Amino acid sequence: VHAEACALNVATKKINCSDGRPPISYDVLSIDIGITPKPLENGLHAYQNITPVKPIDKFDNRWQQILVRIIAAERSTTAPFRVVVVGGGAGGCELTFALYYRLANEMMRLGKDPCDVQVVLVTEGGTLVRSHSR
Ligand SMILES: Cc1cc2nc3c(=O)[nH]c(=O)nc-3n(C[C@H](O)[C@H](O)[C@H](O)COP(=O)(O)OP(=O)(O)OC[C@H]3O[C@@H](n4cnc5c(N)ncnc54)[C@H](O)[C@@H]3O)c2cc1C
Repeated sequence: VHAEACALNVATKKINCSDGRPPISYDVLSIDIGITPKPLENGLHAYQNITPVKPIDKFDNRWQQILVRIIAAERSTTAPFRVVVVGGGAGGCELTFALYYRLANEMMRLGKDPCDVQVVLVTEGGTLVRSHSR
């Protein structure tokens, strides 16, 4: 079923979908909708300089918007553009390397110094990927 579940009635064991189709009955329900940062639900997207990675399936759209902004900024200023990733777990580290790789290539494509873009990783504690690095 290609639809967003928008309401759950545990008494009648039915879920409603936002496209208005008839409610779907269940005997057992498993909820696997991933995570969404709470502030995003409350309008974090209003802060245009903050980009949550989750939900991951929509991150590509958000990343394309960041890329457009970075390229536009690089064309109009000489100050380095700084991207800060918060969280040094597996996802944050992977994202940091991937962002830097892509941005450095974009800078070179534009004939600019890759150092014109800085990617900074901020994480608590002294160890990256703490649960995997022993
Ligand atoms: C940068 C990064 C790299 C990662 N790399 C790896 C890796 O290499 N290997 C690995 O195992 N894990 C990796 N992860 C973690 C992995 O992405 C998550 O653990 C995984 O996606 C969680 O799966 P999930 O099914 O719980 O949620 P999700 O993958 O988020 O899936 C939830 C789905 O539910 C849908 N949905 C949400 N709300 C509703 C609704 N109301 N109604 C209907 N559908 C809805 C969403 O559209 C989405 O399709 C990475 C994460 C990040 C951030």
